[in-house]
Amino acid sequence: LNRRLEGHGSTIFAEMSALAVKTGAINLGQGFPDTDGPEEVREAAVRALRGGRGNQYPPGPGVPELRAAIADHQRRFYGLDIDADTEVLVTAGATEAIAASMLALLEPGDEVIAFEPFYDSYAACIAMAGAARVPLTLRAPGFRPDLDALRDAITPRTRLLLLNSPHNPTGMVLTREEATAIAALAVEHDLLVVTDEVYEHLVFEGEHIPLISLPGMRDRTVSISSAGKTFCFTGWKVGWVTGCAALVAAVRTAKQYLTFVSAGPFQYAVAEALALPGSYFTGFRDDLRGKRDLLAEGLGRAGFEVHRPQGTYFITTDITALGESDGVAFCLALPERCGVVAVPNAVFYDDPDAGRTQVRFAFCKKHDVLQEAANRLRGLT
Ligand code: PMP
Ligand code: GLN
Repeated sequence: LNRRLEGHGSTIFAEMSALAVKTGAINLGQGFPDTDGPEEVREAAVRALRGGRGNQYPPGPGVPELRAAIADHQRRFYGLDIDADTEVLVTAGATEAIAASMLALLEPGDEVIAFEPFYDSYAACIAMAGAARVPLTLRAPGFRPDLDALRDAITPRTRLLLLNSPHNPTGMVLTREEATAIAALAVEHDLLVVTDEVYEHLVFEGEHIPLISLPGMRDRTVSISSAGKTFCFTGWKVGWVTGCAALVAAVRTAKQYLTFVSAGPFQYAVAEALALPGSYFTGFRDDLRGKRDLLAEGLGRAGFEVHRPQGTYFITTDITALGESDGVAFCLALPERCGVVAVPNAVFYDDPDAGRTQVRFAFCKKHDVLQEAANRLRGLT
């Protein structure tokens, strides 16, 4: 393994899911739903497969039907005018979109500012591009971004802001004021901005604001999203990038040599998913809000300090009140102690001490599963 990837050995999600399988514990670690997405979308995938649509290499930027559906989605939810031919790129999940963006847009030695705790692939992709990550730490409680600290973190080497809202793992959702202030800094310092918006439809309080919609951002922002979260098909690995033609062309150049194209039949199905009626999107969000409240209450009763998320399907907790001080040790012991798997937030920090007592639970699970997990966790004290 080369030096760039040192310290990025194996992802915490794979590790904790393997532990869940081994111990038979309830897996509230890795974020994936335990119910698949809409039946009609699955049927659309089967129709595409059977109809010979996408079984051979689809076009590099994505099938035209999906690109059009992505552009329509951006118009419908955010009033954005995106050209389906030149301003959309379909990727193998948001993960590839993040990797291709970093590889396409960064020079070795560039600095990238990202909210810490950060999703693990950010650190690895920045490293693979030979760039340096600069954390902007979100601190409990509240996890609001410190805009003065952001200003201070910008140096002549800063090339790009890699932002995530709704934010995994804290559940922080940027307010319009925060998003506007961050956009103004990006304009002032002529920075590129890559926004990971995979939880765009999981906002329980406030609203999702794509940074690309703010003044001065249209030509400097790469927006990333994915069908995995919004439609509960994390295994399909269909994601996308939208932005101005020049930036999308740059990301497409990198994507060509990573995966060349993304799997065909699922693209047709996701095109149909994106056109689902508004009731799908609100129903999905309302269902997850109820699950958030159910698990938050259960965790509170079990003695955790709960940081109630404004978005995503994760709850970050603090275990200090349980008399615990090490989230990693706590999560490794939890399956044996009470049959539940969670993820220690420490792994999402450059300085593991910063997130030492934080533990993340996913609530994209059936009601009775969450209830059972809450009951088991009550046995801890
Ligand atoms: N970004 C964030 C913040 C995530 O939580 C995830 C997890 N799914 C991804 C990106 C990756 O998305 P995908 O599965 O579409 O590659
Ligand atoms: N995004 C999911 C999470 O945060 C996991 C995705 C993965 O396993 N890479 O749990």
